[in-house]
Amino acid sequence: MTDLPPDLLRGDALLLVPDVTLTPEGPQERHAVLVRDGVFRAVGPVERIVRTDPSLTPVRLPGHALMPGFVDAHHHLTQSFGGALAFGEPSEIFRRVWVPLERALDEESAYVAAKLAALESLRGGFTTVAESGTRATVDVDVVASAARDAGIRCVLGLVCNDAPDGTGQDTDPGTVLRAAEQHLAGYGGDGLIHPALAVSVPEAATAHTLAATARLAAEAGTVVQIHVNEHLVAVERSLVRHGLRPLEYLHQVGALGPQLLAAHATLLTPAEVTLLADSGAAVSYNPVASAWKGNAVAPATAFAERGIRFGLGTDGTRGDGFRLADAAEFAQRLTYGLASGDSSCGAGWTWWERATAGGADAVGLGPRTGRITPGCAADFLLVDIGGPEMQPSWDLPWELVRRGNRDQLTAVFVAGRLRLWHGWPPDWDGPALVRRAADLAPRVVRRAGVTRAHPTSVTARRRAATPHASWDTTAPSLGGRP
Ligand SMILES: [Zn+2]
Repeated sequence: MTDLPPDLLRGDALLLVPDVTLTPEGPQERHAVLVRDGVFRAVGPVERIVRTDPSLTPVRLPGHALMPGFVDAHHHLTQSFGGALAFGEPSEIFRRVWVPLERALDEESAYVAAKLAALESLRGGFTTVAESGTRATVDVDVVASAARDAGIRCVLGLVCNDAPDGTGQDTDPGTVLRAAEQHLAGYGGDGLIHPALAVSVPEAATAHTLAATARLAAEAGTVVQIHVNEHLVAVERSLVRHGLRPLEYLHQVGALGPQLLAAHATLLTPAEVTLLADSGAAVSYNPVASAWKGNAVAPATAFAERGIRFGLGTDGTRGDGFRLADAAEFAQRLTYGLASGDSSCGAGWTWWERATAGGADAVGLGPRTGRITPGCAADFLLVDIGGPEMQPSWDLPWELVRRGNRDQLTAVFVAGRLRLWHGWPPDWDGPALVRRAADLAPRVVRRAGVTRAHPTSVTARRRAATPHASWDTTAPSLGGRP
């Protein structure tokens, strides 16, 4: 399909005929998809769909699958300048790296950081990201602009921390809740930005505000994003302070319900798994974050069995939907499948579905995106399945999880519009943004005063050669450049 000009994929109405269409019923051959005004209008057998609008010329897409875009159920768009600064770090990196880094952002650098993250996400096949609340001291609308300008759908969390040590910008609950209401009432008619609320961790907000944000989000039909039961130290702090684990505490204060999007939820007792199941709360299962910095892996195979709503999240680790789905299966296999002799571990489709429709449901956009079905937003990917990695094909969803790669993405669409063509935006200067970020990031990191507990790989290698030497833990000197 290299001779297909991208101009054929622009326009308010498109009639697409791929080799395979991944619908909620499974992979379908000889299907066509009609997109009009940003929404899937019809999906079905080619002959029938072509008749629905004879004025449209079908665009044939040989060697391609059309699938829903991935949904990142947990991201931090304004942390993208940090990248590998968090590699090797022990838990609660936010205290030493992320909060100082975000606090050092000004309006321009916050915009560039968020747009850089959005571009990486689109390149990895994500058409929706749940932004879990920036700690930058800029208006959250800066992040909205960056996501909108990049062309990605964004569930935009506003941080509502009001506990005295909750690293929030305000500790007056009245001010925090008024800002929350204003945020939820904004963005009406915005095609890509969906306002939501966020609390960094349960201890970062007062019990009153935890309950109030839950009520406000439920009334607005959106989510409250909270990091829950991720690190041992956080679980233990909660036990010391409240006599309850973080998830139990959210239940006690009335913040556990279908509006909760609990990030991580890795350290769960069986009773907490039951709490999740009974409450209808959703989880962002973040397997790469577990591998890179966590204390445990969420029992996601059990979530699926118990009917717990969940999607997959990157937590800003790397914006690659295929590698995230692969990691989701891989982590379950290593932590649960090996011990129980479960070679299937979700049978592939579980992770593919959670990376798409399950994620959309978890972030509060279930009816809106995540599926190739009439009425849903036209958020989709054209995946080249003609290469040796994908042929012969026997089980496409599982092949996409285990063998799919972002270099197979010919095109990424959000709300019916072509956003990326072979990895780059066709209508704005992606490489210029990357250059601007490379220019700004070192200055921001220097201002931030990031403290690392672990050296870069280069320093670690030198240190291995001279085990008793001391090393600097300030970020600028750990730039990784030998
Ligand atoms: Zn996070």
